[in-house]
Amino acid sequence: MNDNKKQCDLCGLDVEVEGFELKTIEGDKRFCCEGCKGIYQMLHEDQVLAETPDDAKN
Ligand SMILES: [Zn+2]
Repeated sequence: MNDNKKQCDLCGLDVEVEGFELKTIEGDKRFCCEGCKGIYQMLHEDQVLAETPDDAKN
């Protein structure tokens, strides 16, 4: 049986909980936890698309 579980795009663990997602220029990324999401966001700042529309670019 081939389940549809996604792997965390940072640490590679199965994603048990939905909701830790980021939109990037390469598509949606999924993470296993808030921590991985935060780290990915820091490491790939230039690829992550802004989540809040009114977050104006400097
Ligand atoms: Zn992770």
